[in-house]
Amino acid sequence: MPAFSRSEIDALGARAEAMVNELATISAEPDRLVRLFLSPEHRRAADRVAAWMRETGLKVSEDALGTVRGRIEGQGGKHLLLGSHIDTVIDAGKYDGPFGVIAGILAAGHFARAGNPPPFGIDVLAFGDEEGSRFPVTLSSSRACAGIFRPENLRLADRNGVTLGNAIKAYGKSPGEIPRAAYKAAEAAAYVEVHIEQGPVLEANNQPLGVVTGIIGQAHVRAEFVGEAGHAGTVPMSMRRDALAGAAEAMLLGERLARETSGEVVATVGHVAVAPGATNVIPASVVIIFDIRSGSEATHTAFIETLKNAIREIADRRHLGLTMTTPRQVGVVPCHPVIQEQLAAAIRAVGAEPLRLGSGAGHDGQAMATLCPVGMLFVRCRAGISHSPLEYASPRDLGLAVAALIGFIERFDPEKLGR
Ligand SMILES: [Zn+2]
Repeated sequence: MPAFSRSEIDALGARAEAMVNELATISAEPDRLVRLFLSPEHRRAADRVAAWMRETGLKVSEDALGTVRGRIEGQGGKHLLLGSHIDTVIDAGKYDGPFGVIAGILAAGHFARAGNPPPFGIDVLAFGDEEGSRFPVTLSSSRACAGIFRPENLRLADRNGVTLGNAIKAYGKSPGEIPRAAYKAAEAAAYVEVHIEQGPVLEANNQPLGVVTGIIGQAHVRAEFVGEAGHAGTVPMSMRRDALAGAAEAMLLGERLARETSGEVVATVGHVAVAPGATNVIPASVVIIFDIRSGSEATHTAFIETLKNAIREIADRRHLGLTMTTPRQVGVVPCHPVIQEQLAAAIRAVGAEPLRLGSGAGHDGQAMATLCPVGMLFVRCRAGISHSPLEYASPRDLGLAVAALIGFIERFDPEKLGR
């Protein structure tokens, strides 16, 4: 197995960067990057990706949700699935998603050209609905591939009232064909995604590449505090039931508890609704929503229980009414340990040190994990910035990532995954 020379890595990086830049020109708006699921820009980006796949020697097809699939047939029916998404947030960076697809195409192309395909097939997947920027749902594309698409989601509408079902038809596809997008479990050996880190850990550790240990679990805990409105001038401090003061205490408590986990849990309150919301009225009712994430299922669950109990204590002490619900709860998705090992070995082979880190953001792997083992390789991005036009990864790091992905494919053996 020849390791890559520095100039070969630079050539891969230059090619990847040119492709990233080319895809970034496909946008709904001239001055910022906006590429929504099942939009005309999605169509153009999918066509560009399909053309690259064909040039690379892959056989291209497209499913009912517009996921582009570029295939190298293997011996036997098993396929290693590589990919990411080509939809974007509004005013997006150009690496989040597209680079994973491009890395997959370049890596698969390496084997297609060598005329020496691995003993398993390779599918490169370009999903269209990871960001959830158009419909109030995410991962529709990967859920369809994993066979867990929810038909009731076809009725969900975008801001203009267009339902997902009608958008699929307008894209020239048929919702009735969605079940055919699903892989059989025996076909899918594993799903491996290359993605920019979207956080600062690799850069802080001076490492270009990282092995993801798992995709973080996420819960939303909604707490509604009910006190009593009153005149801000006439009601003595000792006689108040201030809902916002209670909510504020709960927020600071959540921050302290999360800090005490030494990085195992992150907790954020990004939404506060105060009623009546007037300067001269004691707040009568307040809703806050905690976003709580952790890479450890047990820690996550325990943290949520501790926080909820502490919030109950605050509400009792302040004589506030309290309603708590958990409108969102997504479990931790661990990356397969054997895939982690093979990715780490491939990273070492390109001369880098494989840092292990969790993914604090959601990814298509969360859906694909219901189908097969998953793994992710992270690439350093500047200042950890993502979901912003300032997003940047150097061509050298892109080249290292593609070379590491090729090395991973050389090491990958479906039989070692113990399924
Ligand atoms: Zn992404």
